Amino acid sequence: MSESIAASAPITSVETVIIGAGPVGLFQIFELGLLGIGAHIIDSLAQAGGQCTELYPDKPIYDIPALPICGAQELIERLLEQAKPFHATFHLGQEVTELERLPDGRFLVGTSLGTRLNAGAVVIAAGVGSFQPRRLALPGVEEFEGKSVHYRIKSAAAFHGRDLLICGGGDSALDWTVALCEHARSLTLVHRRAEFRAAPATVARMRELVAAGKMRFVEGQATALLSENQRLTAVELKPNDGSAPIKVAADQVLAFYGLHPKLGPVAEWGLELEKKALKVDTEKFQTSVPGIFAIGDINIYPGKKKLILSGFHEAALAAFAIQHHLFPQKRQFLQYTTTSPIMQKRLGVAPAEAAGAADSH
Ligand SMILES: Cc1cc2nc3c(=O)[nH]c(=O)nc-3n(C[C@H](O)[C@H](O)[C@H](O)COP(=O)(O)OP(=O)(O)OC[C@H]3O[C@@H](n4cnc5c(N)ncnc54)[C@H](O)[C@@H]3O)c2cc1C
Repeated sequence: MSESIAASAPITSVETVIIGAGPVGLFQIFELGLLGIGAHIIDSLAQAGGQCTELYPDKPIYDIPALPICGAQELIERLLEQAKPFHATFHLGQEVTELERLPDGRFLVGTSLGTRLNAGAVVIAAGVGSFQPRRLALPGVEEFEGKSVHYRIKSAAAFHGRDLLICGGGDSALDWTVALCEHARSLTLVHRRAEFRAAPATVARMRELVAAGKMRFVEGQATALLSENQRLTAVELKPNDGSAPIKVAADQVLAFYGLHPKLGPVAEWGLELEKKALKVDTEKFQTSVPGIFAIGDINIYPGKKKLILSGFHEAALAAFAIQHHLFPQKRQFLQYTTTSPIMQKRLGVAPAEAAGAADSH
């Protein structure tokens, strides 16, 4: 585990931190909430949903208990709705880069945006890893990344009045092409095929802009970055039709080639790994470090199946183990949501007379 979390940012003390807001991390909020335990949840992506949202939002899932058919994005929306009563704090668009066990047995969690949390327990629900943008595979690209080559847009205004090259054929590439076209000095879109994986209306708008002479579309691929005095000035494109390479003015390049998962920092926290997954027991789903739990696709144990429903079961058992870890003196007993006034109060569904029965944890 890291010993180098920046000492400058203020630290917020929290009961639990969940790393990863995929379907399993989201259900962990719910299971902890039922036991009266609060959670902060962190994801490197700008929105919750993990693989369901990132890789197959429109596909139907058929093996979620009691939901004969459920869209992947719909499942995420249902999980967010179910977790709502527990008011988890979401820290999105930031990767957990550091996890450090403190001498008192608590944990310091640090993110790429400088968030610092002191947690009693940590649940790693990091799936197949944190999603990273696919990079532009051109010689010398590192020199320009973050300055003239970008994989996400923080401020659209930074691209106004510039010579823009946008690479890709999905929603991000097409949405930004249409949004920036009127503001750029010049705009070229390059995609390796004539077909796009974007909303038809946006593709149609892009074609209108091309027809109106407001932008250019090249079916082909970028082959070289051209610079003067270390400043990007143009990009060489190789058209698919076999014609000679062309040089387009570009002082800013936006590459939207999608995301791919990277195990990343999780592998560096000193936790026992097997086949790039975190080893856990099947009673508590605890890792080799007491107080750090791992659920969902990121864990491994005999018989593990990487299914959403397995992750839900793991989240339920991990919640009980976390309760015991945080409050070892507390007697544990199983309660049903149908009949427990305490749980119903936590869920915000308790009749007024039952509300007084609630206590903590
Ligand atoms: C095409 C496809 C179809 C599928 N169909 C089914 C199906 O029908 N039924 C089924 O049960 N399963 C299905 N699956 C598998 C299912 O999607 C996964 O089992 C499930 O998403 C695992 O959930 P998770 O929450 O463990 O991880 P994930 O969904 O992978 O989410 C993990 C999250 O953790 C974040 N993260 C990782 N590391 C960090 C870090 N260091 N800092 C911050 N955030 C981090 C990631 O950004 C990600 O958002 C399918 C998968 C695919 C690809």
